Amino acid sequence: MAIVELPDPPASSTWIGGRPEPSRAADAGGLHDPNSGEYLADSPTSSHEQVERAVAAAHAAHASSGWSELGAEGRAPYLERFAEELDAIAEQVARLDAVNSGVPITVTRLFGASNGGTVRDAAARARALGDSRRLDADHGDVRVHRVPWGPTALIMPWNAPSAMAVKKSAYALAAGATTVLKPSPASPWSAELVVEAAHRAGIPDGVVNLVYGGARVGAALVSDARVRAISMTGSTPTGRAIAAAAAPNFTRLRLELGSNNPAIVRADADLERTAAAIVSGAMKLSGQWCEAPRRVIVAGTVIDELVDALVVELDGLRIGSSLDEATTLGPVAFEARRCELDAQLAALVAAGARLIRRGRTPSPGWFFPPTVAVADTIDLDLEIFGPLLTLQPATDDEDAIRAANAGHVGLAGYVFSRDEDAARALGRRIHAGEIKVNGTSVLDMAPESSQSFFGLSGIGGHGDADVLDFFSGDRVVGVDRPGLPL
Ligand code: NAD
Repeated sequence: MAIVELPDPPASSTWIGGRPEPSRAADAGGLHDPNSGEYLADSPTSSHEQVERAVAAAHAAHASSGWSELGAEGRAPYLERFAEELDAIAEQVARLDAVNSGVPITVTRLFGASNGGTVRDAAARARALGDSRRLDADHGDVRVHRVPWGPTALIMPWNAPSAMAVKKSAYALAAGATTVLKPSPASPWSAELVVEAAHRAGIPDGVVNLVYGGARVGAALVSDARVRAISMTGSTPTGRAIAAAAAPNFTRLRLELGSNNPAIVRADADLERTAAAIVSGAMKLSGQWCEAPRRVIVAGTVIDELVDALVVELDGLRIGSSLDEATTLGPVAFEARRCELDAQLAALVAAGARLIRRGRTPSPGWFFPPTVAVADTIDLDLEIFGPLLTLQPATDDEDAIRAANAGHVGLAGYVFSRDEDAARALGRRIHAGEIKVNGTSVLDMAPESSQSFFGLSGIGGHGDADVLDFFSGDRVVGVDRPGLPL
């Protein structure tokens, strides 16, 4: 494996009211280089008292910083400066994310480079929408105003750390909300750089706050009654815990969760291209992409041919350090992740699956060889989240749809066929928010593409308009209509 230089870890300060202060070391775990297993640093955590003060700062800033009153136009110059600051730190952020997540640097670089643009898009969308609109009422002025709900908890997973932190922050800030960010304890490093960039951009003190920690810190944050909206990306079990904590306060929820996304391969598919797309999708982000194809459901008549084509693609992967430019499949982010994948693989084998494992993985580090588990039926309780694919035969389209819609689904799906009309028709029957035909790209199929999270994959949706909308409510203010009968 090529020797690559590790980036220096940031101070990992807790940020409250525009000022950094020391965080503690988390009691358990620590951050390791997933490429070597080498211990790097303690994972930071904020104290209960710091979480309390961070929420208090966001609450005070919502009431008195003037951020929400500035309006979309007034906030735009701050967001433009925030975007410029993010552009300037793109490479640094990409390197920290590659070490924290195991995602290849060529991919984290794409995320890092797009962070500034994400903020610009959010600001432009908010300006285009405006802060209020006049309603059709001839007796006087009646307006509906877009009003941020208030302090917002932004809770991140570890697979795309800065992209998640920036997307959530950009849209919350564009809507006029104040924020408390909490990165995953497995990938905390780039969040501080994002918050520092917001600070340098002159965003008022208290509007952006940052705390660290795991479930305990997250739970304290989401159950605080002053937090009026929660945008979380993570697993379905965590989403459930957050929904329960939010219920007593009726806190607004946006939950982007997991799903075992099906990929249906019809007998008429171009199997070489299909295999290339499936392996590319399944191995993206070192197998840690929430919308990756996880379960391949293939017409039984072509299963052997597809397996051969998949093997060719698996053999083409460049397995190596996430900091190496040549790597296409890095390690998974942390040791417990690899252990969970090992356990899922053992369960699949115990249930009769045959394994296809290819490629040589470097021995130290949290590498998981790219694997396809083949069986007549696949029964999965939990989401697979790593470079592990399952493959099962289907007798026909109906059988394939039944298998595709079984279990933990809802986020994404895929159909491969030379008959695009038939594939789209099948796609409309997949229980998920986004179904791609003959491809597995990460980016949306159209600029206004907006997918909902179906079933156990969450609450809310992915589209930029939905995301902006989430952070504010409508308030109608006007002169009452005279002479109404009631
Ligand atoms: P996770 O559920 O373990 O953690 C997510 C975040 O929630 C972390 O910051 C964690 O500290 C926090 N948390 C944990 N318990 C909490 C609690 N009780 N209250 C408040 N916060 C709590 O998820 P993960 O392992 O970090 O991320 C991987 C998951 O994210 C996968 O399931 C993947 O599918 C999903 N994901 C979904 C999308 C999407 O857009 N739908 C995108 C990326 C990742």
